[in-house]
Amino acid sequence: MPDAPGLLALTRFTSEWSRVRVVFGAGAVDRLGEELDALGIRRTLVVTTAGRTTALASIRQALAGRLAGECDRAAVHVPMDRVRDALIQVDAIMPDALLTVGGGSAVGLAKAVALDRHIPIVAVPTTYAGSEMTGIWGVTDGDRKRTGRDARVTPRLVVYDPRLTLWLPPHVSAASGMNAIAHAVEALYAANAGPVAVGAAEDALRSLARALPLVIARPDDLEARTLAMRGAHAAGMALELASMGLHHWICHVLGGTFGLAHAPTHAAVLPHVVAFNAPAAPDAMARIADALGSTDAATGLAALNQALGLTMSLRRLGLRDADVDRAAELVAATSYGNPRPVTADEVRQLLLNAL
Ligand code: NAD
Repeated sequence: MPDAPGLLALTRFTSEWSRVRVVFGAGAVDRLGEELDALGIRRTLVVTTAGRTTALASIRQALAGRLAGECDRAAVHVPMDRVRDALIQVDAIMPDALLTVGGGSAVGLAKAVALDRHIPIVAVPTTYAGSEMTGIWGVTDGDRKRTGRDARVTPRLVVYDPRLTLWLPPHVSAASGMNAIAHAVEALYAANAGPVAVGAAEDALRSLARALPLVIARPDDLEARTLAMRGAHAAGMALELASMGLHHWICHVLGGTFGLAHAPTHAAVLPHVVAFNAPAAPDAMARIADALGSTDAATGLAALNQALGLTMSLRRLGLRDADVDRAAELVAATSYGNPRPVTADEVRQLLLNAL
C-alpha cells in the first residue's frame, strides 16, 4: 500500500449530498436571469445587508422583471427580530425564491426564513464565508446563538462572480478568508471527512493562502479575487461535508455570547486551536503545513495572519479577562467532535493564550 499521508486514514466516512447548482466565474451574474428561468423561478425577494449598492445595481439589472422585492435587514449572527421582519415581508410578497446578495449574514437571514417557509434560496456570495454551500443555519436570540443543519436551507443555485468582491475592503477580505481557512482546517481533522471533503479542504487552503496576500496588496486584482473565491467555495464544500470541532465551538461562543466580530475571531483563535490539536491529528497537520508552504501548521497559520495584518489578540477584539471563565465553561459544556478531548481548564488556558 502507498504510504502517502492520509491514504489509509480515509477508509471510513459518511457523506450526504444536496443538489446545488454552482455557476462560477467572472461575469457569471450576467447569466442569473437564464439560470433562474431554468429553475422556474419568476419572482425573487433579494436579501442583503445594508449598503451593498454596487453589487445590487448589477443584480437588479440581471433580474429585470424577476425582482419582487428587497430586504436589506440582514445582520451578523442573524438576530431573531430581523428574521421576524423578513418573514412578514415574505408573507406579503410571496416570492418563489430568496436571492441573497452578500456574505454569511445575508445567506444566514435567508436560511432562517427558509427554515420556516420552505422557500428555495439562490445565493450570490460577495465574501469568502462559504455559507452558500451549506445547510448550516444559525439564529441569535438574546445572547445565545442556536445552530443546526437542515438540507431544506441549502441554496439550490449559487452564482459566484468574483467581480462582486472587488470592493470588499482588504481587512474584511483578509478576515473572511481566514474564516474560510478555518472551515478547511477543521474539515481536515474531522472524524467523518471523506476524500471529497479532504480534497476540497486542501484546494481551499492552497488557493486562499496564495490569493489572500495578493488581494490585500491589490484589492482590484481580478485574478487574485477569482482564486480567493474558488478557495472560499471549496472551503464551503468542506464545511458542508465534515463536522467542525473545537475551533468552531470557541468562535460560536465568543461571537454569540460575547459579541466578538465573527471573521476576525476565527483568524485570532485558529492558530491556538491548531497548536492544541496538533498531537492528536498528525496527518491533518502535515496537509495544512504543506498547503501553506510551512513546516508547521500552527506557525504557518499565525504567519498568514501576520502577513494579512490580522490581530491574534482576542482582547483587541473585545474579550475581557472577566469573560474567560464563563466562555471556557460554555465551550466545555457543549458536545462536539474534536480530535483531542478538551477540558474547561484547557479551553481557559487556550483563551488566555489568545487574549
Ligand atoms: P457579513 O455577511 O456580515 O459581511 C461583512 C460586511 O461586509 C457587511 O457589512 C457586508 O455588508 C459587507 N460586504 C459584504 N460583501 C461585500 C462586498 N463585496 N464589498 C463590500 N462590502 C461587502 O460577513 P461574513 O463574514 O460573510 O459572514 C459572517 C456571518 O456568516 C456570521 O454570522 C457567521 O456565523 C455566518 N456564517 C455561516 C456559515 C454557515 O455555513 N452557516 C458559514 C460561515 C459564516
